[in-house]
Amino acid sequence: MSEALITISDIKRDFQLGNETINVLKGIDLQIDKGEYVALMGPSGSGKSTLMNILGCLDTPTSGSYILNGKDVSQMVDDELAEIRNKEIGFVFQTFNLLPRTTALDNVALPMIYAGYSKTERNARAKEVLTQVGLQDRMDHQPNQLSGGQRQRVAVARALVNHPSIILADEPTGNLDSKTSVEIMKLFGEIHANGNTVILVTHEEDIAAHAHRIIRLRDGLIESDSKK
Ligand code: ADP
Ligand code: MG
Repeated sequence: MSEALITISDIKRDFQLGNETINVLKGIDLQIDKGEYVALMGPSGSGKSTLMNILGCLDTPTSGSYILNGKDVSQMVDDELAEIRNKEIGFVFQTFNLLPRTTALDNVALPMIYAGYSKTERNARAKEVLTQVGLQDRMDHQPNQLSGGQRQRVAVARALVNHPSIILADEPTGNLDSKTSVEIMKLFGEIHANGNTVILVTHEEDIAAHAHRIIRLRDGLIESDSKK
């Protein structure tokens, strides 16, 4: 029996632009089970990032419910959401979003400060995940001393550090050349093979082909949802 990690029902998200209300997500229903590897696709402006931000608890829906790992996060207030984000979610951005002038080790260890771990625990775990992503030789480097692919590896390590229930990645290879993109996709494949649930947004069919399920959005609705 597969176990639901994410259940969203009739999620809508409106934005207010001046006097105009834009309905970006128009009623999304979706279940994602533990251990799935999902690619989210669709044209620019179809609502992929809006949906990912809701899944990642960076944003809340205008209406509808979102159950993550048995908890109704759509009803939560800011402090509770921040805790869920820190403990349950690893988010990887297209633009890496690392702290400058901060070593790879300290970037990766940061979410563990919020989670209340000691410095010894943080350093040990950060070293472990940096080794997992192949950066054991780059732990003391700052982002500007690393290549794009290495920066994204640091961001992936940071996403993994608190053992989240889900890894979300919004166009993680969007700023990388094609050779580096293949390497980063291989890394997501390994992370999934280690038992993680992964959802990633991509524009590229060959990147999506790594996933086991492809969900296509169009105009704020799910257009298709196919499993291999
Ligand atoms: P995608 O990631 O699929 O390219 P987005 O989810 O970023 O699409 O955006 C979908 C639509 O929602 C776009 O038309 C965008 O302009 C609009 N939108 C997204 N965020 C906001 C916001 N904070 N305020 C107003 N409109 C927004
Ligand atoms: Mg987007």
